[in-house]
Amino acid sequence: MPQNLLDLDLAGLTAWFGELGEKPFRARQVFHWVHQSGVADFAQMTDIAKSLREKLQQQAEVKAPVVNYAHTSADGTRKWLFDVGPGGGAASDQTWRNGIETVFIPEDDRGTLCVSSQVGCALECTFCSTGRQGFNRNLTVAEIIGQLWVAQHSLKTEPNRTTGETAGRPVSNVVMMGMGEPLANFENVVTALGIMLDDHAYGLSRRRVTVSTSGLVPAMDRLAERCPVALAVSLHAPSDALRDQIVPINRKYPLRELMAACRRYLVHAPRDFITFEYVMLAGVNDTPGHARQLIELTREVSCKFNLIPFNPFPDSGYEKPRADAMRVFREILQDAGYVVTTRKTRGDDIDAACGQLAGKVADKSGRVMKRMHKEAA
Ligand code: SAH
Ligand code: SF4
Repeated sequence: MPQNLLDLDLAGLTAWFGELGEKPFRARQVFHWVHQSGVADFAQMTDIAKSLREKLQQQAEVKAPVVNYAHTSADGTRKWLFDVGPGGGAASDQTWRNGIETVFIPEDDRGTLCVSSQVGCALECTFCSTGRQGFNRNLTVAEIIGQLWVAQHSLKTEPNRTTGETAGRPVSNVVMMGMGEPLANFENVVTALGIMLDDHAYGLSRRRVTVSTSGLVPAMDRLAERCPVALAVSLHAPSDALRDQIVPINRKYPLRELMAACRRYLVHAPRDFITFEYVMLAGVNDTPGHARQLIELTREVSCKFNLIPFNPFPDSGYEKPRADAMRVFREILQDAGYVVTTRKTRGDDIDAACGQLAGKVADKSGRVMKRMHKEAA
């Protein structure tokens, strides 16, 4: 099997080059070609000695997941579906292909790429379309960084829709908010984050890369030590009673432990803040009382809030909040001194909004079958 160079960070590539008897600076050159120039064909790496290029052609490859389709929304949001290989799970159908989704959101001053970390998700938050699909497997480093590689290099040749100019590096920010729980795929995600931050690759600053977690407390501590990028925590409820219901991982890591983990995280990332994401579900977690409880809960954490109106999907059982409920909720938090952003829904005409990423998942957890039986009974 050829070595996929997208699976390696610079340290890994240098070590692998060492095994080939090649010097570290050669690894750096190839790393630049791959990540900065987006070149996958070794023949095009013109400043590399021909003998090395031939060696690489025999023993290595640069292989991102295959693009199944790319759609562009009316507002410029772009969504890709990547093919990440066959089946597994209860699906006996050998022709089944798993798919993951990636979304690019262009704004005036930045371009944000929303990246997936797993095929599906095992955590079963009740309002999340990815959670509904079940879980198949973790993505490899190549599949995670491959999403950025494809986006960066396919977008940079496209003219901007308003200015007509092409951007050198269209992706300025990455959020790990696509399919999956990034901290449940810890090692691969951390290696991919390292490549995103590396000046020899994408050179994104630590604060422009965000990991979003539903609250895997031990992994939050490990992330703080290994790679303290910006952290978003999916809170969604101000009490254990409610959060146990809608974010089931809360039964394992309840709010008191989660808040303590947030405070510890900020010790490693001074001058930062935690972004608390809060999906507003009509009649479930969107009353003034909930907002006041949130203030109490987060009193000792340096934080801001990101309110996300629930994005519906078929048979979700939830409804979007009313505009006035969102406004009142926001004002209560703002009056208490919090910075609050309300996430604009982008790309919902192509199902690219938060929580709508469904991809194609051959469930291995048995959960989807169980639900179908329950619904049939
Ligand atoms: N697993 C991670 C990251 C992926 S989800 C996490 O849960 O944080 C990214 C964000 O979208 C999370 O805050 C998640 O709770 C939110 N989300 C999930 N389903 C949603 C929906 N139907 N509408 C709006 N936001 C949703
Ligand atoms: Fe998984 Fe996040 Fe969806 Fe919860 S919200 S099921 S953790 S992807």
